[in-house]
Amino acid sequence: MKKVFSPCNRLLQKPVMDRIKITIKQESVDDGAIFVRVQINDNELPGILNVEAFFAIKQENELVPLFTCGCGDFGCKGYYVHVSCIDTALILRNGYHRFNQSLQSKFEYNLDWHQVKDVAEEIITYLQKIHERNPGAYITSGYGGENLIDSMSDYRQSFLLIPK
Ligand SMILES: [Zn+2]
Repeated sequence: MKKVFSPCNRLLQKPVMDRIKITIKQESVDDGAIFVRVQINDNELPGILNVEAFFAIKQENELVPLFTCGCGDFGCKGYYVHVSCIDTALILRNGYHRFNQSLQSKFEYNLDWHQVKDVAEEIITYLQKIHERNPGAYITSGYGGENLIDSMSDYRQSFLLIPK
C-alpha cells in the first residue's frame, strides 16, 4: 500500500522558533576578558558562551562544551549542550555534566539560522571593533584561554555563517 503523507503532519512537525539574544560585557577597556551571556526567550542561560566552541559547531549531532562557568573555565561550572542542525534551525537540547556528560538540565531551543548568523556576526563585529581600537588586544572568553582576536578569520569561515 502506498503511504500518503498528510500536509497536516508536516505542519505539526514544524518547530516553533525560540528567540536568542546575547549581551557582551568587557572586563576592562579593550583588553582581557569578555563575557558573552545568552538569553533565550526570557531565560538567562547559566554561565557564559564558550566562544571558541560556538564557532566550532559543525553540521553534526554532537555534545558541544557550549557554556563555561562565568569565569570562563569549562572545568569549573561549564556544561555540554547537545547541538543538532536541521534545514531551518540550530537545535540546542539539554545541559550535560562537564565531567561525566550525564543529563543535568532539560530544555530544547530551536533557533532559526538567521538568528544564529546574527549572533555569530555580532560577536565577530565586537571583536573586530576591539581589534581596531587596540591592535595589541588579547581578548579571552572569561579569564583565560587563547586570544580570540587571533581566531577571527577562522570564525568568519564558520559553518554558522554559511547561508542555509
Ligand atoms: Zn568558575
